[in-house]
Amino acid sequence: MAAPMGEQRGSGRLDALLVSHLPNVRYLCGFTGSNGLLLLTASNATLFTDGRYREQAAQEVTAIGAARVVIPARGDLWKAAAARLRPSARVGIEGNHVTLAQRQRFLQHWAGSAARLRNASGGIEAQRAVKDPTEVAAIRRAVELASSVFLPTVAQLRPGMPETEAAGRLEFALRQAGGEGLSFDTIVAAGPRSALVHGSPSHAPLPQRGFVVMDYGVILGGYVSDMTRTVHAGRPDARARAVYATVLEAQAAAVAAVRPGAACAAVDRAARKIITKAGWGRQFPHSTGHGVGLEIHEAPRIAATASDTLVAGQVITIEPGVYIPGWGGVRIEDVVLVTAHGAEVLTPSTKEMLSF
Ligand code: ZN
Ligand code: ZN
Repeated sequence: MAAPMGEQRGSGRLDALLVSHLPNVRYLCGFTGSNGLLLLTASNATLFTDGRYREQAAQEVTAIGAARVVIPARGDLWKAAAARLRPSARVGIEGNHVTLAQRQRFLQHWAGSAARLRNASGGIEAQRAVKDPTEVAAIRRAVELASSVFLPTVAQLRPGMPETEAAGRLEFALRQAGGEGLSFDTIVAAGPRSALVHGSPSHAPLPQRGFVVMDYGVILGGYVSDMTRTVHAGRPDARARAVYATVLEAQAAAVAAVRPGAACAAVDRAARKIITKAGWGRQFPHSTGHGVGLEIHEAPRIAATASDTLVAGQVITIEPGVYIPGWGGVRIEDVVLVTAHGAEVLTPSTKEMLSF
């Protein structure tokens, strides 16, 4: 995916772009190390990294001819990039990801002035929002791996098991199945704690009766998965069944609204309408979904306030939930591909309410 400047969307008035956000660096030149700065100009691409990555950068970047690799003395990447830029150049930096210290170091060593620096944040992210078939295949594999450990892990759950142990069993299974890492800190939240939207696993035991929200993801081929299932300890009562059925219906309605050209806000509305009609609108405090890819939260946002429309090739989550303080909560989340004419749910796991 070599990318000289001229091809970068939204950077038409720039002479150079300094890409420092590592997922963007990886996307553009293939480098997966933890320290890298990619300089793009109209004619070429240069990756600056440090000596630890000499071999790796040669393998990942030089091999596909995506960029020249430079390893500056003393590892000062920003200084090295600054030395290569004309003072008259219009230089874009990723303002959302550059620290004040990095910006100062760059300006210290560049003959140009701060007035010629532009915030070019979001341009690469906009390209990344639409996945090519190779990326879709990678996400699909990650999603399928994560799904494959769901039922075997649920079969190990017992009342009294700490949430931390349940999370650990899930994470071990993901690693055992070949996961490169976790997409984010696993959420296992049980009983009344399932009403916490982002409940980190605690020492609280899984209850005799009540919901257990499990939200987790795995990285495979650099791409992430993201899924949530809510299971029930013991026999669900009428209220538990009603909340679960509502969230499931809302999830299906949002998935049904996904197609190219659909407003992201309309997809959010499709889920929210059903939850609101059931009387729990105020208990659904987050947006309906988000893009996934090299990162766990990418464009587009599937939210009431979003102004984007969906494009074929985007990969998003659909994850409505209802959270009742002191009682419990339900969230159901799938990864969904926007296809040429509609949507394909990539997550194969059952959405029936399972009990243990
Ligand atoms: Zn999730
Ligand atoms: Zn999510």
